[in-house]
Amino acid sequence: MKAKITEYMSYLGGLARVPLTLAGIMAFVTIAAMTSTPVRASEGLASGWQELSPNAHLFTMDGSNTVVVVGRGEALVMDTYTEAQAKVLKEQIRKRFDVPVRYVVYSHAHADHLRGSAVFGDKVEYVAQQRQLDRLNFLIPFEPSIHRPTRFFDKSLTLEVGGVTVMLEDYGFNHGTGVTVMRIPEAKAVVIPDIVYPQRLLWYGLNDYSPRGILATLRAINATEYEIVVPTHGPTFGRAEVTEFIGFLTDLIDQVKAVIDANLESKGPEETLSIALKEVDLTRYDKWGNYKEWRDGNVEGTFQSLYVGW
Ligand SMILES: [Zn+2]
Repeated sequence: MKAKITEYMSYLGGLARVPLTLAGIMAFVTIAAMTSTPVRASEGLASGWQELSPNAHLFTMDGSNTVVVVGRGEALVMDTYTEAQAKVLKEQIRKRFDVPVRYVVYSHAHADHLRGSAVFGDKVEYVAQQRQLDRLNFLIPFEPSIHRPTRFFDKSLTLEVGGVTVMLEDYGFNHGTGVTVMRIPEAKAVVIPDIVYPQRLLWYGLNDYSPRGILATLRAINATEYEIVVPTHGPTFGRAEVTEFIGFLTDLIDQVKAVIDANLESKGPEETLSIALKEVDLTRYDKWGNYKEWRDGNVEGTFQSLYVGW
């Protein structure tokens, strides 16, 4: 048990290597809001409700988004974040819509998205992509506020929430384990957790991220029909921002790969990494969120992932 706890603490430590400060989040919200273009259902509220379509709503608390789909006599939610947030969400759904929650969907197996889910009790269905199970089995003994998932899917799952269609989709490994993209045709919306933010770099050292996996996922999503992207944090955005982010990822991966191809065999990994850190030129993104803080981490994370073949 002790070894497991140590393992868990270092796992959490890894995820929290560069914690987002509230000021950082607010700066990001501001930057994202300034660069937004039409088709916006969300204003990037710090807290409160916004309507995506008549039956799809966005509940935001402390900058974290929960999509709530409300059909006849039942509702679905994705991600609860903290126990406090889950309790407020549950009460708000009761007051505002007066329907019980039937489905709680887990976007991916990271505890910071799932804490508090158990407040919805034992009668709801807790739905997760099946690759989340191993990680959740590891997490849940340390995180009693996360309910065990009770229903799994592989490639996709269509749910009817009181007559409103919701599709859950898996695009392979990109971030965390079993990342679930949720599509709400009525709102022409896709909920994309954690892997794309307008004009912001990827999370520091790409802990638990695969840049090539994200790129493949975003390209696949962009080949489908949608108008609005609902991220798990911050305001909604559109296809143009996803396309721009695909451009950034392609650039980052191509440049790091070119350095690897030219140097790895003759100079070895350590020297190749320091060449990449020096030579990869991302200055055209220097106005993007967290450029200064995360630029080196993005280069190093991409190097590591290409080096180990992710
Ligand atoms: Zn995550």
